[in-house]
Amino acid sequence: MRSMIPDYLDEVLAGVRADASGQTASYIPELAAADPERLAAAFATADGEVYGSGDVDVEFTIQSISKPFAYALALSDRGVEPVLAKIGVEPSGEAFNEISLESDTGRPRNPMINAGALTAHTLAGGARLDAGERVERVVEGLSAFAGRPLEIDEAVWASEMAHAHRNLAIAHMLRSHAIITEDPMGVVDGYTRQCSVLVTTRDLAMMAATLANGGVNPLTNEQVVDAAVVRQVLSVMATCGMYDAAGDWATRVGIPAKSGVAGGLIGALPGQVGIATFSPRLDVHGNSVRGVSLFERFTSDMGMHVMEVPPPARAVVRSNKVRGEGDAATRILRLQGGIRFAGAERVVREVVDSAPTEPRVVLDVSLVHSIDDVARRILLEVVRRLTLDGHDVYLVDPERVMPDPDPGDGGRLTVVDDLQHALQPERGSAVSAQHVLGESQIPSGQSAVDHDRGTSG
Ligand code: GLN
Repeated sequence: MRSMIPDYLDEVLAGVRADASGQTASYIPELAAADPERLAAAFATADGEVYGSGDVDVEFTIQSISKPFAYALALSDRGVEPVLAKIGVEPSGEAFNEISLESDTGRPRNPMINAGALTAHTLAGGARLDAGERVERVVEGLSAFAGRPLEIDEAVWASEMAHAHRNLAIAHMLRSHAIITEDPMGVVDGYTRQCSVLVTTRDLAMMAATLANGGVNPLTNEQVVDAAVVRQVLSVMATCGMYDAAGDWATRVGIPAKSGVAGGLIGALPGQVGIATFSPRLDVHGNSVRGVSLFERFTSDMGMHVMEVPPPARAVVRSNKVRGEGDAATRILRLQGGIRFAGAERVVREVVDSAPTEPRVVLDVSLVHSIDDVARRILLEVVRRLTLDGHDVYLVDPERVMPDPDPGDGGRLTVVDDLQHALQPERGSAVSAQHVLGESQIPSGQSAVDHDRGTSG
């Protein structure tokens, strides 16, 4: 069989190709001269498969799409609080090059408008770097997101620098508020080099996929930034990535995104896919006209809106049965799917409602593919309470989807590879709490809900 995904991409590109509305960016002569007919779209999955259609290997400058990545580097290199002290996270509802700062603090409103992006550029890398080393850090960081070494287009850089009066004005304002402490000219120079990094649509899809994959580049497997940084970046992309069209985008498309004035556009769908499009003609907000249409199409065809409500967790409990009788009776709860808070709550309710009297209780997670942290804590507390109620509890977990299965004080859990081992108990490996009831030994943050009940004997 041939994959239908490239066919689909061909078809959606054909659907928007005829739209010649909008204009290439006029304020950067090199961009104004770009071929406006270029058109490309690419998907990169969180496990590294790339699908493309159209001019996916044509290079163009990254422009503002560098902003979320430079912000990620700043957060990673300096920490969240020092960055927040200098750059806000409020949507500005303003154009990308608006000359505005928060009236009380002088902070740029967010890192996606130029004022915030100029500041973020100065925060990438350590505090002691000079302007050249800072640019090196940024280019190396962008390359790590893309999974290949990227280079600066000197012609585009020079072309923008010759007309950079507005960014210089912003940088001088930032300097006057001591938001940046370096020479404004050098900052604009470095930021403009950052914007002049050459990428292809394929690169951009991979950069977006690195965000979608929690900061790990799917090709190189490098952890470029950590998951907490990615969450911060995706949140800001979702609220501010499309400038004064951000609300419209959030409702119509609903994918954390960022546009650039060379015509690139990226979207990162957490846990699934990085998407990139390229088409140089821009709308009045500076967003690619056909890029926006393509993303609208992707969302409506494939339900990619991040606020799309997923099916409820009802199906987490696949079955709840009793095997054997008397002393040999075993209650078996078979769970399935991915378990998060709501799924774990369904399991709690199932156990509470069935009030097991059998000596043994088995939680079978062989068909579960993931258990997040809150679900893990809740399920282990179920185990602990069942132990305290006098049951022997088993976890059938051949793939070890339950990380660190220690139920804590007074809990006892035997982890086995299959149901047969649970029914013949001598063959499992027991994980039991080493401490007596009433002494909480679980580190905070790991502790399961409501530890007091049952332990304060
Ligand atoms: N280098 C451009 C600028 O600062 C980037 C703007 C953009 O892509 N929206 O004006």
